[in-house]
Amino acid sequence: MNINNLNTYPTNQLSKQKFSCRCGETHEISSNIAFDDVENTIEHYIEKIVPPLSLISILYDLSSRQKYERTIDKKLGNFGFRVNPQVCKQGEKIAQKISEDTRLILGVGNHRHLNEVKQLAFLLNLPYALVPTCPSSHLQSLIPSYQKSDQGCIEIFKSPPPNLLLCENDWKGNTPQAGSYFSLISAKLVSLFDYQASASLNGEKFCFEIFDQALSIIDESIEQTLGATNQFELERILKENLVRYGALCQLKGNTRLALGAETLAAKIFSSLTYYNGDNIGENEFLFARILMRLYLNYLENKTEFFTPPPSNNKRVQLISKYFKIPEQIALKNIRPVPNAHKESLSSYKLKIHRDELFALATEFDSKLTLAYSALKKLYLDEGYSFTNYLGKNEATISVALAPDFMQKFTLLSFMKDRGLLEGMLNDS
Ligand SMILES: [Zn+2]
Repeated sequence: MNINNLNTYPTNQLSKQKFSCRCGETHEISSNIAFDDVENTIEHYIEKIVPPLSLISILYDLSSRQKYERTIDKKLGNFGFRVNPQVCKQGEKIAQKISEDTRLILGVGNHRHLNEVKQLAFLLNLPYALVPTCPSSHLQSLIPSYQKSDQGCIEIFKSPPPNLLLCENDWKGNTPQAGSYFSLISAKLVSLFDYQASASLNGEKFCFEIFDQALSIIDESIEQTLGATNQFELERILKENLVRYGALCQLKGNTRLALGAETLAAKIFSSLTYYNGDNIGENEFLFARILMRLYLNYLENKTEFFTPPPSNNKRVQLISKYFKIPEQIALKNIRPVPNAHKESLSSYKLKIHRDELFALATEFDSKLTLAYSALKKLYLDEGYSFTNYLGKNEATISVALAPDFMQKFTLLSFMKDRGLLEGMLNDS
């Protein structure tokens, strides 16, 4: 099995894919991914996971319940499954909605909702199927992790992938979604850059084929968006591209390709501003541009300045203030500075790899600029205005605090450890 076969996605058949990679690992997609008419075909897919008469707990979020009102559960019921459909409001303890004899959890909804479904399925050790209804839930569903917000602070846990991801083949939302799909995809240039930086500076195992494939999905998406004439067709293509990207995340087996500095900064930003809108992709994209510029400026400057180590006090105060949590809890979120040996090793490696990383940042920065024109064109075509929601102050703090919430090595965390982000905290 070759990774290029991913190009044949989407498929209407249940498909598990496994391949032995040149990096020495065997990569595997264990989720079954299908694009189809959800209402008409769901029983066909569910039947492959659990036999008839099994009890299925269906957890809808509020708006997906309206869309699928009495269709999915009715269909499954007619087909001989026992169903327990529930509407879950945001922030509700959905665990209470699960009957004890549940054999499958079916989650239908947005990314926040599906994240909770994932967490619940993991804790109860039950198979689960997801029907994503917003752009970011398409990507997030396939990443083998879920996020938990503990009093505003973000933690990421590993979880098994869904048994089934069933995407609506012909979904027409109320507002054009192509822009969201596109910005979510192209923002991942930062995650990819950090993957390369981590391989160079931190010795993380690098899978060239996965990196290459991920990059070509982004390149294709930019090209397809710039040349698009049919918005509905483009929306379909971009959705498939995003799911293909999600499939690559699952092949990679961790959050490296998708939950990068751009995502964390955007998440912190929405916590700081209590902004709960659905244009997460847009914010991620804007942060991706900011971060790539920051990386570029840092790498361009060849003299390493001696800076005092980062002031964790200031960080603790800010996290405590903005997330409204006690300082002891905020302190738990501060990523420790790596030990001196590891630190000097990475600094030494930066000397060697600086030019190569600078070239990559330059390349990715121009891709992001191209993506920005594509996005503007897209919004213009859709008669939709591109809104910049980022206030400068909150955006700066979000970038400076992002490394405290990241588990993986990024150039941003490397910069933080050198005290280079302190100025961004002090300005606030
Ligand atoms: Zn590999």
